Amino acid sequence: MESGSGNCRGFLTPARGRAFDEGFGFRKNEGMSPAELKESIHAVTPAHLKERLSGLGHPAYRADQVLEWVYSKRVDGFAAMTNLPAALRASLEEHFVFHALETVRVLGAEDITRKYLFRLSDGAMVESVLIPASPALYGEASDRRTLCVSTQVGCAYGCKFCASGLDGWSRNLTPGEIVGQILQAEKQSGERVSNLVFMGMGEPLANFKNLSLALEILNAPWGVGIGARRITISTSGLAPQIRELAEQSMQVRLAVSLHGARNEVRQQIMPVNRKYPLEDLLDACEYYAERKKQRITFEYILIREVNDTLEDAKALVEVARRVDAKVNCIPYNKVEGLDWVRPEESRQDAFMAVLKRAGVTATIRREKGHDIAAACGQLRRQTMAPAVAE
Ligand code: SAH
Ligand code: SF4
Repeated sequence: MESGSGNCRGFLTPARGRAFDEGFGFRKNEGMSPAELKESIHAVTPAHLKERLSGLGHPAYRADQVLEWVYSKRVDGFAAMTNLPAALRASLEEHFVFHALETVRVLGAEDITRKYLFRLSDGAMVESVLIPASPALYGEASDRRTLCVSTQVGCAYGCKFCASGLDGWSRNLTPGEIVGQILQAEKQSGERVSNLVFMGMGEPLANFKNLSLALEILNAPWGVGIGARRITISTSGLAPQIRELAEQSMQVRLAVSLHGARNEVRQQIMPVNRKYPLEDLLDACEYYAERKKQRITFEYILIREVNDTLEDAKALVEVARRVDAKVNCIPYNKVEGLDWVRPEESRQDAFMAVLKRAGVTATIRREKGHDIAAACGQLRRQTMAPAVAE
């Protein structure tokens, strides 16, 4: 199958990182400017906003009006909320902030994959990728406009093949910054995003609390209104958080970056496998599938002479059967500075044939936009380079 969709990765590079911190990353107060101490208006639920407004002496029902301006009318500031009393607008101005992401660069054009480089309020940058119509990948319906979003600046998990982990982890994105990527991409493109994949920079489940609030806002009818089944969370395999996500009522889809169906192969390229080996991961996957009554997807990057033998394919058949998972194979996207390469097509075909013969539901993504995508990797790297030079 040919498509430019499915994996917007391999070309996202991080800012220089600080040490790993498992914290949930609501920003600390030290050193923050007064503007940053304000709460992001893109990170509040109606219940929370009602409580805040009541506390500030305003009627609670105004919260619904405020959120209507934010999400239905998509205004950029409180001044535009013309049906609200001036005193309320002043109060909102004082306590809340529109943390709009700043678009630094856009690559691509209408009808093809577009990549946005966004600057966050502290100067860190993340990329989001807008992928136009393509056949269904994760959802049931055809994927219309799918946005691939980031959840962290950098990544602490250090998978050996991935650009995001190269320079470590800087920080978690706030809920407002996660939601902000969708709002900004929609504003920039003039189109509504119908599907979301959390496959940008970072490990979504390591930013669980912020991710959960962002998901609530993205899914809510009063918010961005994207159906849960049109949202896919991709994880490198944090077993406890997979279970935690399974407990939540929202029917989001789960994609697990497997990339190795045997421990000895997987832990060679994914250090997280030492913490959560395949047995634990597969148990958690089974739990998720069972709780949500859903089939999960295993992502499997094909890397030449690392995980692409027929023996690997047979092992993948076993684990896919065990969890009744779909498999999405992705020929590796070259990352500058890393030696890994994709197998030649005949080898990819032989690998796929093993899966198909065994009756596993499997697709392979041969991305047309490989070169454009690679150029996009340079986009962030080039733009970041002066800022991160030591
Ligand atoms: N941290 C999460 C989500 C972001 S990565 C995770 O690991 O799942 C999204 C997907 O892109 C993962 O399957 C990841 O393994 C894959 N990926 C990373 N680098 C890649 C590359 N160079 N080529 C192809 N896919 C890549
Ligand atoms: Fe890259 Fe995901 Fe691994 Fe992080 S967890 S290094 S984003 S593949």
